[in-house]
Amino acid sequence: MTEKCYYLDINKLEFEAESSDVVKEKKGWRVTLDKTYFFPEGGGQPADRGWINDIPVKDVRKKGDDIYHYLGENPGNGTVKGKIDPLWRRDFMQQHTGQHIISGALWKVGQYKTVSVHMGLDYTTIEIDAPEIPEEDLLRVEKLANRVINNDMPIHVVETSHREIDQFPLRKPTDLKGKIRLVRIGDFDCVACGGLHFDSTGKVELVKATGVEKIRGHVRMTWKIGERAHADYTKKNHIISGLRSVLSTNEEMFVRKTQELQEEILTYKRKCNMLENRLADTIARNLYEAHTKQGESTCRVIGASWREEEPNLIKKIMKELLKCDNTLICLVNIFPGKLQWSIGCSADSHFPYDESKNELLAIIDGKGGGRHPLWQGTGSQPGSAEDFIAAFRSLTLRLPLI
Ligand SMILES: [Zn+2]
Repeated sequence: MTEKCYYLDINKLEFEAESSDVVKEKKGWRVTLDKTYFFPEGGGQPADRGWINDIPVKDVRKKGDDIYHYLGENPGNGTVKGKIDPLWRRDFMQQHTGQHIISGALWKVGQYKTVSVHMGLDYTTIEIDAPEIPEEDLLRVEKLANRVINNDMPIHVVETSHREIDQFPLRKPTDLKGKIRLVRIGDFDCVACGGLHFDSTGKVELVKATGVEKIRGHVRMTWKIGERAHADYTKKNHIISGLRSVLSTNEEMFVRKTQELQEEILTYKRKCNMLENRLADTIARNLYEAHTKQGESTCRVIGASWREEEPNLIKKIMKELLKCDNTLICLVNIFPGKLQWSIGCSADSHFPYDESKNELLAIIDGKGGGRHPLWQGTGSQPGSAEDFIAAFRSLTLRLPLI
């Protein structure tokens, strides 16, 4: 049995204990001590972190009368030194105590019942039994919670039993039996809880709601509590000062300015698209006129290459050329170290891609595929682009095109 000292003195972060049982498990070395100040997971509050004989404690769990500490290495039997991570402990005590205050304020402001709580590494979420919360209620909750913090109200832990529980003004009924641990914040809030709390509300420092979402038909709020709220404020100020300089305006104008910029981008995109279409049309027409029908073939064979051209423009040129009569097309876009190719044929013609792909792709060390009327891919030999186009031309003479 482990003596549970974490409720006795929340400020004791270093201690000595006897290690009585060390077992290798999948999760690591499971160490049982005769007493511990490490808080195991409970009441929605994550387990403490810290060190036993300087070996990091990865998790702490309550199992019956024992508390298991999980370590990456074996600390050995006998007397060990335990040290609780003070920053981790303080952070989660702020989260946990802050959550009591917020849940109390939610109840006071609009009889909103807290149905679940999650304390993550970045923020704390509180889910309530309501499908929505008006913005003014949320502001009142935040204000009331911060007033309770500012007033530095005392927090007491009261031990009672289920027989005497009716004497206490519980915010949330409990069906616990036997010994019950109550946490009271002055006359503001009272609830059964097995977590660790500060002895006064002032140590929570600050709470701030940073988001509201709907989940399973309930409102779930995101809260920044304590040091995290200060850090969040600092981070947001940093972001705002960056935006102020980029947008050349003050924060009141951010939304309007961003909307204006979005509209401007949309207008430019439309214009750019229109000009690209016109350009593709002109290039396609020029290519068509510059290539006459070759040999005995009844088809017009068009081959062209570009260096580092906008791929979308080449796609559009191909699209235009595919509309022509009796036309076979091979377009190549050359980049440093690679190329993009596309082969197309008009609806009234045919190109035997399957029969010719091995010969063609070998020239550019290429890959790709497609189906009538368009095939495309890449190659790793940009220097062979013209050979690729020439081979395409000669294939159109050699292979049956119908
Ligand atoms: Zn609690």
